[in-house]
Amino acid sequence: MPLSVAIIGAGPAGFYTAEALLDRHQDIRIDLVERLATPFGLIRAGVAPDHQSTKQVSRRFEQTALRDVVHFYGNVEVGRDVTLAELRRLYDAVVLAVGAGADRRTAIPGEHLDGVYGSALFVGWYNGHPDFRDLRPSFDASAAVIIGNGNVALDVARVLVKSQAEMVTSDLPDHAAEAIRGGNITDVYVVGRRSAADAKFTSAELREIGLLADCAVIIDPVDLSVRVAAEDDRERRLREKNLAILRGFASASGTGRSKRLHFRFNLLPARIEGAEKVEAVLFERTRLEAGVVVGTREYERIPCGLVVSAIGYQSSPLDGVPFDARRGLYPSIDGRIEPGLYAVGWAKRGPVGVIGSNRPDGVLCAEQIIADARDLSQGIARPGRSGLERCLAGRGVRSITFDDWLKIDAAEVAGARKPAPRRKFTTLAEMLSVLADSGQRGADAALASGARPGHH
Ligand code: NAP
Repeated sequence: MPLSVAIIGAGPAGFYTAEALLDRHQDIRIDLVERLATPFGLIRAGVAPDHQSTKQVSRRFEQTALRDVVHFYGNVEVGRDVTLAELRRLYDAVVLAVGAGADRRTAIPGEHLDGVYGSALFVGWYNGHPDFRDLRPSFDASAAVIIGNGNVALDVARVLVKSQAEMVTSDLPDHAAEAIRGGNITDVYVVGRRSAADAKFTSAELREIGLLADCAVIIDPVDLSVRVAAEDDRERRLREKNLAILRGFASASGTGRSKRLHFRFNLLPARIEGAEKVEAVLFERTRLEAGVVVGTREYERIPCGLVVSAIGYQSSPLDGVPFDARRGLYPSIDGRIEPGLYAVGWAKRGPVGVIGSNRPDGVLCAEQIIADARDLSQGIARPGRSGLERCLAGRGVRSITFDDWLKIDAAEVAGARKPAPRRKFTTLAEMLSVLADSGQRGADAALASGARPGHH
């Protein structure tokens, strides 16, 4: 019997695991079970719409999905359409590659006000994720505050301040492009609770901010006269590089630009203020004592009509899997939760690292599955794919195959206004109608060639 593996989640962590398993095992069947109708996880729904080169890795994943031993089951949600316990009975091994789709909370008063979003929601919205398509953030006010000093904060800031001309090569969906373009935001504040030397931006992403066409970057030079403390030389160099880039921004002239991106440091959010809708964020100034952020009881208010907290993500608990609520992940030993059940990517490590960081996870996971393989099958012939298909058919689940996805993909690419790479469908209904149309066209073509429907 071939080894049967179900990977839950068809994002980078899932695909790198599939790839590593295929490289290491000759007789294997891999099924990628994905909640959304579309594959590629964060590549499609997380990576910024103006970072198209990062999205190219999906071509590599496509080659994996096209292998005949790999199947994609899109629009199949574990917990709704099939349970984890069922998958574990059907497959020799189950891998959680579910990412970290929920926002970490700021846990400050006012977090619930209208106009306050976690980055999972806001990034999902501007990336056309069907769950967040109807978020309808308001861009009426002139200022937005982004809490956090990581790359997600930079992504959100860029999308808010880039001009229409700078976004023409992106796949920003129409609903987001129209809302942002039609809005009034002129000032975006990116606010860190620690100093400029402690920011988690990576240099390449930070440097990009200096290339904005119609946005001045505002930094108080006082914030940049900080001492760099780091655990090792590499860390120190990275921090010094970031500071040098920020100093370059501080000394550049941004006159004549219609928008401003303000970097603010040592400000801890204390309260979000407003009647129903956010009107301001109150911050407490901080200083660092032995590496710990402490408040100084000096406060500063930044008026704004939109707040995005980009302070990190967490996975969500899943029935039948131990969950570490503090770290927001499924605890494991190097990815092995127990023989037969594994975690990879952000579900295993927490929300740190870039797309490529998932590759070693995939390799380690594949090696563990193969090492466990003999014990896993325990002489039991597990049905794998045929069992899953029976289960889904019995429940009337309309799963999306990889061939279906290729049709949706082709329709998105064909519908793009060049030079945009694609025009994303943002609802399941739109995607299903592409499939219904292409089914109809296929039937029409068959009729035209003399064949009768249902006869191949
Ligand atoms: P991140 O890099 O961990 O940054 C989170 C930021 O939020 C930090 O500045 C952190 O400050 C701050 N923070 C955490 N809790 C807070 C609180 N309660 N109040 C105020 N601030 C708080 O996370 P991320 O930006 O979500 O990115 C996740 C991962 O994806 C990172 O590894 C990132 O590099 C990667 N990514 C990469 C790219 C790219 O390569 N282009 C794009 C997007 C994301 P402290 O440092 O003080 O904890």
